[in-house]
Amino acid sequence: MNRDFIAWLAQHDDRAYDLHETHVNPAFVKMLKTIGFDKHYVRGEGAYLWDDEGNKYLDFLTGWGVFAVGRNHPKVKSILKQVLDRDLPNLVRMNCSTLSGLVAEKLTRHIGGDLTQVFFCNSGTETVEAAIKFARCYTGRQDVIYCDHAFHGLTTGSLSINGADFFRERFGNLMPGTRKVPFNDLSALERELASKKAAAFILEPVQGKSCEVVHDGYLAEAQRLCRKFGTLLVLDEVQTGLGRTGEWFCYQHWPGVEPDIVCVSKALSGGYVPVGAVVTRPKIMNCVFDSMERCVVHSNTFGQNDLAMAAALATLMVIEEDALVENAAEMGAYLMDGLNRLAPSCPFVSAVRGKGLMIGIDFARPSDSFKLKMAWDMLHKLNFGVFGQMIVMPLMHEHRILTQVAGYHTEVIKFLPPMTITQQDCDWFLGAMQEVLDDTQRFPGAAWETVAGLAKSVVRA
Ligand code: PLP
Repeated sequence: MNRDFIAWLAQHDDRAYDLHETHVNPAFVKMLKTIGFDKHYVRGEGAYLWDDEGNKYLDFLTGWGVFAVGRNHPKVKSILKQVLDRDLPNLVRMNCSTLSGLVAEKLTRHIGGDLTQVFFCNSGTETVEAAIKFARCYTGRQDVIYCDHAFHGLTTGSLSINGADFFRERFGNLMPGTRKVPFNDLSALERELASKKAAAFILEPVQGKSCEVVHDGYLAEAQRLCRKFGTLLVLDEVQTGLGRTGEWFCYQHWPGVEPDIVCVSKALSGGYVPVGAVVTRPKIMNCVFDSMERCVVHSNTFGQNDLAMAAALATLMVIEEDALVENAAEMGAYLMDGLNRLAPSCPFVSAVRGKGLMIGIDFARPSDSFKLKMAWDMLHKLNFGVFGQMIVMPLMHEHRILTQVAGYHTEVIKFLPPMTITQQDCDWFLGAMQEVLDDTQRFPGAAWETVAGLAKSVVRA
């Protein structure tokens, strides 16, 4: 088996869904089978996936944002292989590794200003947990202000500042002292900050669940208010960071914004090794780690492991060398432009929004056609939240494009392509969207029948 592990693995391929049904997450398997997403992918490269029948798919989901440099990028792969082959003295713990020092140097250069300190961890939610602890430690305050519809991860601290009841229900008491404000509402933010109890105000500059973008001027004013009332501004760039929105970090679209803490993860992994990084100011870091005794008072076992650090360093190099931030800006504008041109012809589209290569389409009850209003009502009587599948399923089954339904409070579908995509990929997607959006207007029709069947099966389940 050791000699040809891949051949051995292939012998078990047809058991994947059964194994997961038995040992991992049967509800997830059921969902995949219900929408026909139970494929057997055998290869990934760049923006594409291939299944065991040789079909090629365009990946506009990128593993929820981790494959920003595309799948199996040759430079990242080569660097990881070199590190593996050298038998490096990984995770000695009582030393300082060159690799993590170099990642910290490169990351802080792209962030700039006074944010020169990095804490490493293993996931997005861990960056948020660290940010909460650092802000509490530095300010001596307890409370955390967060936004409606926010998503910062699902461990208990991050879950406490999740903007959707759906994720919180049935998990018992969460962290006390959290206060929710509407996204983009500066007056509500000022009211909460004025109590001077908040250690941190945390937000995503583009919300992952809705693709809502902060208004121009919002971050600068939020920063002014945070400073006025002694609260740290924490930007969760776990999804938006490293170029996805067309700047290295999304907040850099608005000059003068300099948060106190920036959370980075997903793309930093190169799609290979989980990693997270919290970037902050020396005065905050020095407050948390203020003595030799407390030098590991916040820490983790696997942070700074060589493979994660090599993947991170290689990813940062690829983004720089392949000019992927510029490509994200250019292709993002091309996609947004194309979608904005398609949108008026589909009465269900209520908004196209996002920034760079993080784009969402929001669907709503049409205001004109009686027939289409009736179709919308009929579907929503069965189940809220399945309309998006009328886009996502045919994109997959008829056009071989992998996307996802993103929102829980609205009917949003989200597109998160790799930053390496070409104009040809964008045209493949836009052509497919045109057909799929046109089909939503054929009622009664195949698309409506499929999605009504799906809604009924969800209700039955
Ligand atoms: N923050 C944001 C903005 C995210 O989008 C996510 C994940 O989607 C997280 C935090 C949590 O990251 P992870 O799933 O790696 O814990």
